[in-house]
Amino acid sequence: MRKVTIFGSTGSIGENTVDLIARAPADYDVVALTGGRNVARLAQQAISLKADLAVTAYDDCYEDLKAALSGTGVEVASGTAAIAEAADRRADLFMSAIVGAAGLVPGVRALKHGTTLALANKESLVTAGPHLMGEAARNGATILPVDSEHSAVFQALVGEDISAVERVIITASGGAFRDWPLEDLASATIEQASSHPNWDMGQRITIDSASMFNKAMELIETKEFFGFSPSQIETIVHPESLIHALVGFNDGALMAHIGPHDMRHAIGYALNWPNRSHLPVERLDLAKISSLNFIAADEARYPALRIAKDVMDTGGLSGAAFNAAKEAALDAFIAGEVGFLDMASLVEDVLSRLHGEFGLGCDTVTLDKVLETDHVARQYTRELVQQTAAR
Ligand code: NAD
Ligand code: MG
Repeated sequence: MRKVTIFGSTGSIGENTVDLIARAPADYDVVALTGGRNVARLAQQAISLKADLAVTAYDDCYEDLKAALSGTGVEVASGTAAIAEAADRRADLFMSAIVGAAGLVPGVRALKHGTTLALANKESLVTAGPHLMGEAARNGATILPVDSEHSAVFQALVGEDISAVERVIITASGGAFRDWPLEDLASATIEQASSHPNWDMGQRITIDSASMFNKAMELIETKEFFGFSPSQIETIVHPESLIHALVGFNDGALMAHIGPHDMRHAIGYALNWPNRSHLPVERLDLAKISSLNFIAADEARYPALRIAKDVMDTGGLSGAAFNAAKEAALDAFIAGEVGFLDMASLVEDVLSRLHGEFGLGCDTVTLDKVLETDHVARQYTRELVQQTAAR
């Protein structure tokens, strides 16, 4: 039996992880589950998976969670510190599936125990890639990618010499607005941005897919996790989203990973790694699919891709600033304070202000510096949002 903890078990990735674990109860011993305000679902999961501990991120949800779990023997806790403390309970694998920068600290804490971190929380690598990878190396811990593109690259690299890689191509669906006239993007609504053509995901990542901020994050994630140089990392729009990524080698071969739109594929690969095991995902019927399409990614439509290149070139703390500004800009878009295209302008303005004031490309990326940069970037974004909203 493998001991498993899931950070963010009530989210989209969390639920898919719970689904796979629930199908093989004899293989897993669930240590802790963490969630947010959906305490009813968190309690249900904790009962059905026989978890030792359930933690809600919010102190004002503690009483409800406690009531829902009374008499079950499941321990209950609340708050950000309690989530991080759950990382100190021994587990063989931690699933990092909290959304946003809040996922960073629990994951880093788990790495200190030399364990395996299955990483869906891309913000961890974007904000603190050098620190995260350094912590894993220092503690003999393993990080397994769960983002579908990175799982695809990871799988294409099995048995290969990484120095023979010439390039990596990350595919993008193009999001909800791929075929919209450019002039209509400024007036795109939250509802329109919240529907994805292919994948069923949490609201934040779905909007990030429409703006391509999600892909921008994934390019940075690719650089940080695999250590490729920015010039080796490409994006292509692939409307069917069936090829998740391709790896190009120095002999011209391109290895593509093709699979259904089902995150249980990448999650299951991480749960079973280094083996493979049966997964309940659709088997593709290639004759029915019949064709796959590719379109060059247009930086005029997707300014986030251009910003990602700058962030990769600068390195250091620019990823932390980029992510925090992006999260705060997304909050403002969801709150109806700014328009869809304002998000990219806000992020660019915050990055240039921070460059001017601190210079972001420092060599040592510590957790404290990341958290400080995150804080300042959010504050600057809020100031700019207020100015934008006042115009
Ligand atoms: P989601 O919004 O569906 O779920 C997020 C989870 O995190 C929930 O359990 C929620 O309660 C918890 N949470 C939210 N804010 C929190 C906070 N401040 N502190 C503690 N817990 C908090 O998100 P998701 O779509 O499952 O995405 C999770 C992560 O996986 C993100 O980093 C996302 O980019 C990444 N990812 C998601 C998908 C996908 O298909 N959904 C694919 C690839 C990568
Ligand atoms: Mg992805």
